[in-house]
Amino acid sequence: LSRVTTTADATAPGTLTVVGLGPGGPDLRVPAATRCLGAATDIVGYAFYVEQAGPFRDDQTVHRSDNRHEAERAQFALDLAAQGAHVAVVSSGDPGVFAMATAVLEELHRALDRWAHVDVRIIPGVTAATAAAALVGAPLGHDFCVISLSDVLKPWATVVNRLDAASGADFVLALYNPISSHRPWQLGEALATIGRHRRPDTPVALVRDAGRPDEVARITTLGAIDVSIVDMRTVILVGSSTTAAFTMATGRTWLYTPRHYP
Ligand code: SAH
Repeated sequence: LSRVTTTADATAPGTLTVVGLGPGGPDLRVPAATRCLGAATDIVGYAFYVEQAGPFRDDQTVHRSDNRHEAERAQFALDLAAQGAHVAVVSSGDPGVFAMATAVLEELHRALDRWAHVDVRIIPGVTAATAAAALVGAPLGHDFCVISLSDVLKPWATVVNRLDAASGADFVLALYNPISSHRPWQLGEALATIGRHRRPDTPVALVRDAGRPDEVARITTLGAIDVSIVDMRTVILVGSSTTAAFTMATGRTWLYTPRHYP
């Protein structure tokens, strides 16, 4: 993301659309997102997601970045749009869930005059929690809570407090950003916190690469969870006190959380 260059007509008003790509392939991407990617003059995003969003035509300019510096990426995209480009900022899953839509709005809020004429839009996507849930049944059928375990942008004490409160309130939990090389021990502490409120036989789903070719969905329990198979491409769903599991004669196990509550 070094220069602001675009193939667009700088005299026409530009647009910036934050596009949710869904969890993986185009099958789980909403048609409005696919349409926007086709109409964009410029595509901006983290290289891994840009690959997922392509292929692109020769008359489209692709600006790949690394996974950090979301603010810079947002400013760059807003500047392109201010010059008349039709920019698609790509994000995995839903762009409003731990992703680029917030970064774009934060920058816009910070410098309203600078980008006053940019037409900003947000196209939602299938988020990791619902993509993963569908693979293992209907574990999010009752009240649930989505928590990122990353302490890069919030203090770890806040993560633990929220896990404690949400587990205590008996929400089903969807845990994003569960582990990384910079955060090796946090997942163990997170599971121990949840374990203070939930029984060891509470159903848990570990879903890696939902909607992608290497998709893996494992059903286990809180007491037997093997954290060695969890990585940054995994979402963890932890059942509530009412989440049930059953296995069919075919060997297929389903999880669900009933709509009614005792
Ligand atoms: N905006 C994204 C979430 C970004 S945070 C969304 O709505 O899905 C990144 C985290 O999301 C990852 O660490 C992982 O926990 C989860 N995630 C994203 N895509 C996933 C996928 N295809 N399969 C499993 N987990 C995924």
